[in-house]
Amino acid sequence: MLLKTILNKCHRFKSFVFGKTEFFEHKGLDAIEVEILPRKNSRAICSCCHNPATLYDTLDSRLFEHIPIWGFRVFFKYLMRRVDCKNCGVKVEEVPWGSGKRELTKTYMHYLSTWAKSLSWKEVAVRFGTSWEKVFHSVRYIVDWGLDNRIMSGAYSGAKLPPFRLKVATHSGPKLPPFRWKAATFGA
Ligand SMILES: [Zn+2]
Repeated sequence: MLLKTILNKCHRFKSFVFGKTEFFEHKGLDAIEVEILPRKNSRAICSCCHNPATLYDTLDSRLFEHIPIWGFRVFFKYLMRRVDCKNCGVKVEEVPWGSGKRELTKTYMHYLSTWAKSLSWKEVAVRFGTSWEKVFHSVRYIVDWGLDNRIMSGAYSGAKLPPFRLKVATHSGPKLPPFRWKAATFGA
């Protein structure tokens, strides 16, 4: 079975397809690089207003670290593009697997933060060959995502937000103990 078959089973990006997969050397170790290409005739999305926009130019390729497989680190490689959005001007496009300038894919961040429910952040970092900071940023991303979606859903519209303990307990991401929440929120 090809690696691409597994990836397509796990991830379906409407406007993108997986290209070639190959080994490459990353920090002295073998790692897997998975190319991602825009699907033909698909439209790029503005990362600012999330609407389709006209292509402007192409930037350098970026690596997004994904969930490791069989001990190999996995990276998505993509040539980021910029769009000329009629609402926002020239902006970097939005990609469904990444978020802003974060180095990890959304899926990997979610994966790490799920493990962070059971293990210390340091243990998670050691187990997955990543850094404490990346685990920290993953947990923060998931917590922020949970809060944004809860607020956007209007669940608390017009009312003062409940204490953070309740917010953490009710969002769809990991249920974090108070001290981790504090670290995730205030960078302590
Ligand atoms: Zn826009």
